[in-house]
Amino acid sequence: MAKGDFQRRMEEAQRRLGAWALGRNGADEVSSACTNVAVVLVVVNLITRNSAFAIAALALLAYSWFRISSKDVSRRRAEVTEASRRLGPVLSWLANPMAAAREARGYKHLTCPSCGQRVRIPRGKGKVRVTCPKCHARFDGRA
Ligand SMILES: [Zn+2]
Repeated sequence: MAKGDFQRRMEEAQRRLGAWALGRNGADEVSSACTNVAVVLVVVNLITRNSAFAIAALALLAYSWFRISSKDVSRRRAEVTEASRRLGPVLSWLANPMAAAREARGYKHLTCPSCGQRVRIPRGKGKVRVTCPKCHARFDGRA
């Protein structure tokens, strides 16, 4: 097969993928979290040989796929906001453990005492006075 031919096929595949993805939700934090948990469940299934874990993994993958291919983007986005509000940092850890670990190393998260907003500050700054970006309350913290 000539190289030009291969390239043309790749471009065609990319064009089709682009056409398919148009107006769809795509991967979000919730679908990524579901996929990652499914992978863990598959491993647990292999170790325990309990098929309930495999079934749960399949259900999560199906739900993840439903989210990625969904055309109701605004509703999916609202669900991510809701999941993030309920799970807090857990969602970030499930969705992208590597990025969450990098984030945890570089930053510390404080919670605003008056509105509960989470505020991110760089580590190693010692004692800091923080202004909440949401309610503008000022509070002291240690980074
Ligand atoms: Zn606040």
